[in-house]
Amino acid sequence: MPELPEVENTRRYLEEIGLPGRTFSSVSIGWARSVREPALEDFVLGIPNRRVLEIRRRGKYLVLPLTENDFEPAADLILHLGMTGGLRVHPRSQPAPPMVRHTFSLEDGRELRFIDPRKFGHLWLVPDWEDALPTFGPEPLDDSFTSQALAKILNARHAPIKALLLEQSVVAGLGNLYADEALFLAGIHPIRPADSLSGDEVSKLRDGIVAALTTALHHYDQSRVEGWPDPPFGLSTWTIPRRADEPCPRCGASMVGIRVRARSTFFCPDCQPRE
Ligand SMILES: [Zn+2]
Repeated sequence: MPELPEVENTRRYLEEIGLPGRTFSSVSIGWARSVREPALEDFVLGIPNRRVLEIRRRGKYLVLPLTENDFEPAADLILHLGMTGGLRVHPRSQPAPPMVRHTFSLEDGRELRFIDPRKFGHLWLVPDWEDALPTFGPEPLDDSFTSQALAKILNARHAPIKALLLEQSVVAGLGNLYADEALFLAGIHPIRPADSLSGDEVSKLRDGIVAALTTALHHYDQSRVEGWPDPPFGLSTWTIPRRADEPCPRCGASMVGIRVRARSTFFCPDCQPRE
């Protein structure tokens, strides 16, 4: 499932391929239920003749402010990639890859193609993206994501730390894989109550989150430069094996697999002690 690095990679790709400044001529929606807001007809009518001002990201969402008059944003197009979604910009003449659900035609002869095999992606076209999306916690790659900011959030909660890291209102953009990786890097057991973490542990967790995400982003940056197969879903920056009984890469103990709020969770019982 695309998490922050995968969505940020998509954002950087769309920027590099020159989507900002381009104008949509039409849109074809191949799976009506992907459109969350407004009604399908209004969504389709709201796209043509609007120009992409920029590509932004908030958590796991992409936000494209659109303009009609080159100055003020007229609407925000929001894209969520769901479980398996991806975005590519291709010339209209290039055969579309399989599983393209939605096609945004551009006036320059290219198309923004929303590939979505499992159809869990979503689209919005709204006056203001902030009104359409839930409240987010801090962006972990922003300067404001300090140990103190994280401690303030975690000290008020008693839930297992792994569960909280998956809540977008705690930290924006983290998902199952990067949460496990961050906890491993920090040496913290996934079911420790959040309010039991010491200041030093919160600091290590903050650093682990940033390290897990930036390592992945470097990998993606390299993949775009070197033209690895797109989109590069085969991420291989994990420190930890995501399989029980595999040896911990740090100490050799057998990794343990459990479920935390129904999400598969892997940790090393020696490097991430319960107490
Ligand atoms: Zn270990």
